[in-house]
Amino acid sequence: MVIESIPKAVGFIYGLLAFAALAWLWYSGRFTRRRALPFLIVSALLGFLVFAPVFPYQLQMVVLGNAAALGSPLPMAIGGLLLFIVLALVLGRVICGQVCPAGAVQELMYLLPAKKRGRAESRVPVAVRAGVFVVFLAAGLGLSVNLLALIGLPAFFHLAVASASFFVFLGIVLLSATVYRPFCRYVCPYGALLAPAASKGLYRLLRTDACIGCRKCERACPTGEATPAAGLGECYLCGRCTEACPVDGALVYGRGK
Ligand code: SF4
Ligand code: SF4
Repeated sequence: MVIESIPKAVGFIYGLLAFAALAWLWYSGRFTRRRALPFLIVSALLGFLVFAPVFPYQLQMVVLGNAAALGSPLPMAIGGLLLFIVLALVLGRVICGQVCPAGAVQELMYLLPAKKRGRAESRVPVAVRAGVFVVFLAAGLGLSVNLLALIGLPAFFHLAVASASFFVFLGIVLLSATVYRPFCRYVCPYGALLAPAASKGLYRLLRTDACIGCRKCERACPTGEATPAAGLGECYLCGRCTEACPVDGALVYGRGK
Protein backbone atom coordinates (compact mmCIF):
# COMPACT_ATOMS: atom_id res chain seq x y z
CA MET A 1 0.00 0.00 0.00
CA VAL A 2 2.95 2.38 0.65
CA ILE A 3 3.37 4.57 -2.45
CA GLU A 4 7.12 4.69 -2.88
CA SER A 5 6.97 7.60 -5.34
CA ILE A 6 5.80 9.93 -2.53
CA PRO A 7 8.92 11.42 -0.92
CA LYS A 8 9.39 10.59 2.77
CA ALA A 9 9.90 14.35 3.25
CA VAL A 10 6.12 14.70 2.90
CA GLY A 11 5.73 12.76 6.14
CA PHE A 12 8.38 14.81 7.90
CA ILE A 13 6.82 18.13 6.83
CA TYR A 14 3.41 16.85 7.96
CA GLY A 15 5.03 15.86 11.27
CA LEU A 16 6.33 19.37 11.82
CA LEU A 17 3.04 21.03 10.89
CA ALA A 18 0.93 18.62 12.96
CA PHE A 19 3.32 19.04 15.88
CA ALA A 20 2.97 22.83 15.69
CA ALA A 21 -0.83 22.64 15.49
CA LEU A 22 -1.14 20.20 18.39
CA ALA A 23 1.34 22.11 20.56
CA TRP A 24 -0.66 25.27 19.91
CA LEU A 25 -3.92 23.51 20.85
CA TRP A 26 -2.38 22.42 24.17
CA TYR A 27 -0.72 25.80 24.81
CA SER A 28 -3.91 27.75 24.12
CA GLY A 29 -6.05 25.42 26.26
CA ARG A 30 -8.06 24.35 23.20
CA PHE A 31 -6.90 20.73 23.05
CA THR A 32 -9.74 18.22 23.12
CA ARG A 33 -9.76 14.58 22.10
CA ARG A 34 -12.35 15.42 19.44
CA ARG A 35 -9.97 17.99 17.90
CA ALA A 36 -7.11 15.50 18.08
CA LEU A 37 -9.01 12.75 16.26
CA PRO A 38 -8.41 14.06 12.69
CA PHE A 39 -4.65 14.15 13.42
CA LEU A 40 -4.76 10.52 14.54
CA ILE A 41 -6.57 9.48 11.37
CA VAL A 42 -4.29 11.44 9.00
CA SER A 43 -1.15 10.23 10.80
CA ALA A 44 -2.27 6.60 10.58
CA LEU A 45 -3.13 7.00 6.88
CA LEU A 46 0.27 8.57 6.17
CA GLY A 47 1.86 5.54 7.81
CA PHE A 48 0.17 3.32 5.23
CA LEU A 49 0.63 5.67 2.25
CA VAL A 50 4.12 7.12 2.83
CA PHE A 51 5.50 5.11 5.79
CA ALA A 52 6.51 8.43 7.33
CA PRO A 53 6.93 10.01 9.82
CA VAL A 54 7.41 6.60 11.52
CA PHE A 55 10.00 7.88 14.01
CA PRO A 56 11.09 4.55 15.56
CA TYR A 57 11.82 3.11 12.13
CA GLN A 58 13.74 6.24 11.19
CA LEU A 59 15.87 5.62 14.29
CA GLN A 60 16.31 1.98 13.25
CA MET A 61 17.54 3.06 9.82
CA VAL A 62 19.94 5.55 11.40
CA VAL A 63 21.35 2.83 13.66
CA LEU A 64 21.82 0.61 10.60
CA GLY A 65 23.24 3.53 8.57
CA ASN A 66 20.68 2.91 5.82
CA ALA A 67 20.30 6.33 4.19
CA ALA A 68 18.50 4.90 1.13
CA ALA A 69 15.55 3.69 3.24
CA LEU A 70 15.40 7.03 5.03
CA GLY A 71 14.88 8.98 1.83
CA SER A 72 17.24 11.64 3.15
CA PRO A 73 20.94 12.01 3.95
CA LEU A 74 21.92 10.42 7.27
CA PRO A 75 22.83 13.72 9.00
CA MET A 76 19.44 15.20 8.09
CA ALA A 77 17.61 12.16 9.52
CA ILE A 78 19.68 12.32 12.71
CA GLY A 79 18.95 16.05 12.91
CA GLY A 80 15.22 15.41 12.55
CA LEU A 81 15.23 12.81 15.33
CA LEU A 82 17.26 15.09 17.60
CA LEU A 83 14.94 18.00 16.85
CA PHE A 84 11.89 16.10 18.14
CA ILE A 85 13.80 15.00 21.25
CA VAL A 86 14.60 18.66 21.95
CA LEU A 87 10.96 19.54 21.32
CA ALA A 88 9.94 16.85 23.81
CA LEU A 89 12.24 18.55 26.33
CA VAL A 90 10.25 21.72 25.87
CA LEU A 91 6.71 20.57 25.13
CA GLY A 92 6.42 16.88 26.06
CA ARG A 93 5.59 13.93 23.82
CA VAL A 94 3.39 15.78 21.35
CA ILE A 95 4.62 13.62 18.47
CA CYS A 96 3.74 10.41 20.28
CA GLY A 97 0.31 11.75 21.13
CA GLN A 98 -1.08 12.04 17.64
CA VAL A 99 1.69 12.44 15.03
CA CYS A 100 3.66 9.17 14.87
CA PRO A 101 1.69 6.66 12.74
CA ALA A 102 2.72 3.74 14.98
CA GLY A 103 1.30 5.53 18.00
CA ALA A 104 -1.75 6.71 16.07
CA VAL A 105 -2.90 3.23 15.00
CA GLN A 106 -2.62 2.00 18.61
CA GLU A 107 -4.42 5.07 19.96
CA LEU A 108 -7.23 4.54 17.43
CA MET A 109 -7.47 0.86 18.38
CA TYR A 110 -7.74 1.78 22.06
CA LEU A 111 -10.87 3.77 21.21
CA LEU A 112 -12.66 0.50 20.45
CA PRO A 113 -15.12 -0.57 23.13
CA ALA A 114 -13.04 -3.50 24.45
CA LYS A 115 -12.28 -4.29 28.11
CA LYS A 116 -9.13 -2.37 29.11
CA ARG A 117 -6.33 -4.25 30.87
CA GLY A 118 -2.97 -3.52 32.47
CA ARG A 119 -2.14 -1.74 35.73
CA ALA A 120 -1.68 1.89 34.77
CA GLU A 121 0.73 2.73 37.58
CA SER A 122 3.13 -0.15 36.82
CA ARG A 123 6.75 0.73 35.97
CA VAL A 124 7.19 -2.66 34.26
CA PRO A 125 6.66 -1.30 30.71
CA VAL A 126 9.42 1.30 31.16
CA ALA A 127 11.83 -1.33 32.48
CA VAL A 128 11.01 -3.73 29.63
CA ARG A 129 11.45 -0.95 27.05
CA ALA A 130 14.84 -0.05 28.52
CA GLY A 131 15.92 -3.67 28.10
CA VAL A 132 14.60 -3.76 24.53
CA PHE A 133 16.51 -0.55 23.82
CA VAL A 134 19.79 -2.18 24.83
CA VAL A 135 19.01 -5.19 22.62
CA PHE A 136 17.96 -2.82 19.78
CA LEU A 137 21.29 -0.99 19.91
CA ALA A 138 23.42 -4.10 20.34
CA ALA A 139 21.62 -5.95 17.53
CA GLY A 140 21.70 -2.96 15.20
CA LEU A 141 25.21 -1.67 15.81
CA GLY A 142 26.89 -5.00 16.51
CA LEU A 143 25.12 -7.42 14.19
CA SER A 144 23.31 -5.16 11.67
CA VAL A 145 20.04 -6.78 12.71
CA ASN A 146 16.86 -4.85 11.97
CA LEU A 147 14.88 -5.57 15.15
CA LEU A 148 11.86 -3.49 14.16
CA ALA A 149 11.62 -5.37 10.86
CA LEU A 150 11.67 -8.65 12.77
CA ILE A 151 8.62 -7.56 14.75
CA GLY A 152 6.89 -6.39 11.59
CA LEU A 153 6.69 -2.60 11.89
CA PRO A 154 7.48 -1.99 8.19
CA ALA A 155 5.61 -5.09 7.02
CA PHE A 156 2.47 -3.91 8.82
CA PHE A 157 2.41 -0.46 7.20
CA HIS A 158 3.34 -1.91 3.81
CA LEU A 159 0.47 -4.41 4.23
CA ALA A 160 2.95 -7.18 3.41
CA VAL A 161 0.55 -9.94 4.38
CA ALA A 162 2.83 -12.61 2.86
CA SER A 163 5.41 -11.85 5.55
CA ALA A 164 5.18 -13.62 8.93
CA SER A 165 6.39 -10.45 10.66
CA PHE A 166 3.27 -8.62 9.43
CA PHE A 167 1.24 -10.78 11.78
CA VAL A 168 3.54 -10.06 14.72
CA PHE A 169 2.87 -6.33 14.49
CA LEU A 170 -0.77 -6.95 13.63
CA GLY A 171 -0.97 -8.86 16.93
CA ILE A 172 0.51 -5.85 18.76
CA VAL A 173 -2.01 -3.54 17.09
CA LEU A 174 -4.92 -5.83 17.97
CA LEU A 175 -3.65 -6.04 21.55
CA SER A 176 -3.76 -2.25 21.74
CA ALA A 177 -7.56 -2.40 21.74
CA THR A 178 -7.29 -3.68 25.31
CA VAL A 179 -3.76 -2.71 26.49
CA TYR A 180 -2.79 0.94 26.04
CA ARG A 181 -0.06 1.38 23.36
CA PRO A 182 1.89 -1.85 23.93
CA PHE A 183 4.46 -1.00 21.24
CA CYS A 184 5.09 2.53 22.55
CA ARG A 185 5.32 1.50 26.19
CA TYR A 186 7.17 -1.83 25.96
CA VAL A 187 9.19 -1.67 22.75
CA CYS A 188 9.67 1.67 20.98
CA PRO A 189 13.37 2.62 20.99
CA TYR A 190 12.59 6.22 20.09
CA GLY A 191 10.06 6.35 22.93
CA ALA A 192 12.89 5.22 25.21
CA LEU A 193 14.70 8.44 24.26
CA LEU A 194 11.64 10.69 24.27
CA ALA A 195 10.40 9.60 27.71
CA PRO A 196 13.35 10.92 29.76
CA ALA A 197 13.28 14.13 27.70
CA ALA A 198 9.55 14.61 28.34
CA SER A 199 9.97 13.88 32.04
CA LYS A 200 12.06 17.08 32.15
CA GLY A 201 9.61 18.88 29.84
CA LEU A 202 9.31 22.62 30.37
CA TYR A 203 5.64 22.64 29.44
CA ARG A 204 3.54 19.89 31.02
CA LEU A 205 0.23 19.03 32.58
CA LEU A 206 -0.10 20.75 35.94
CA ARG A 207 -2.65 20.70 38.71
CA THR A 208 -3.62 24.14 39.97
CA ASP A 209 -5.12 25.25 43.28
CA ALA A 210 -8.56 24.76 41.71
CA CYS A 211 -8.09 20.95 41.97
CA ILE A 212 -10.70 19.42 44.30
CA GLY A 213 -8.83 16.12 44.67
CA CYS A 214 -11.55 13.97 43.11
CA ARG A 215 -8.86 11.91 41.27
CA LYS A 216 -11.04 11.47 38.19
CA CYS A 217 -8.00 12.36 36.05
CA GLU A 218 -5.97 9.59 37.69
CA ARG A 219 -8.66 7.01 37.01
CA ALA A 220 -8.92 8.15 33.38
CA CYS A 221 -5.17 7.96 32.67
CA PRO A 222 -4.07 4.70 31.00
CA THR A 223 -0.40 5.15 31.99
CA GLY A 224 -0.61 6.27 35.61
CA GLU A 225 0.87 9.68 34.80
CA ALA A 226 -1.98 11.85 36.08
CA THR A 227 -0.89 11.66 39.72
CA PRO A 228 0.63 14.86 41.19
CA ALA A 229 4.04 13.17 41.65
CA ALA A 230 4.26 11.65 38.16
CA GLY A 231 7.25 12.51 36.02
CA LEU A 232 5.15 12.58 32.80
CA GLY A 233 7.74 10.66 30.78
CA GLU A 234 4.95 8.22 29.93
CA CYS A 235 2.37 10.93 29.27
CA TYR A 236 1.25 10.59 25.66
CA LEU A 237 -0.75 13.83 25.80
CA CYS A 238 -3.87 11.86 24.97
CA GLY A 239 -6.17 14.29 26.77
CA ARG A 240 -8.15 11.74 28.80
CA CYS A 241 -7.26 13.39 32.10
CA THR A 242 -8.19 16.93 31.07
CA GLU A 243 -11.41 15.61 29.57
CA ALA A 244 -12.28 13.74 32.80
CA CYS A 245 -11.56 16.71 35.09
CA PRO A 246 -14.83 18.25 36.28
CA VAL A 247 -13.31 21.60 37.30
CA ASP A 248 -12.35 24.23 34.73
CA GLY A 249 -8.71 25.21 35.13
CA ALA A 250 -7.82 22.52 37.69
CA LEU A 251 -5.63 20.56 35.26
CA VAL A 252 -3.82 22.71 32.73
CA TYR A 253 -0.95 22.45 30.24
CA GLY A 254 1.55 25.11 31.21
CA ARG A 255 5.08 25.94 32.20
CA GLY A 256 6.28 23.83 35.12
CA LYS A 257 8.18 25.22 38.05
S1 SF4 B 1 6.52 5.83 21.54
FE1 SF4 B 1 7.48 5.41 19.56
S2 SF4 B 1 5.90 4.37 18.35
FE2 SF4 B 1 4.90 5.32 20.09
S3 SF4 B 1 4.23 7.24 19.26
FE3 SF4 B 1 6.20 7.62 20.25
S4 SF4 B 1 7.71 7.43 18.61
FE4 SF4 B 1 5.80 6.53 17.87
S1 SF4 C 1 -4.49 10.79 30.68
FE1 SF4 C 1 -2.39 10.28 31.31
S2 SF4 C 1 -1.30 9.92 29.35
FE2 SF4 C 1 -3.20 11.00 28.83
S3 SF4 C 1 -2.67 13.20 28.83
FE3 SF4 C 1 -3.37 12.73 30.90
S4 SF4 C 1 -1.53 12.21 32.07
FE4 SF4 C 1 -1.00 12.09 29.90
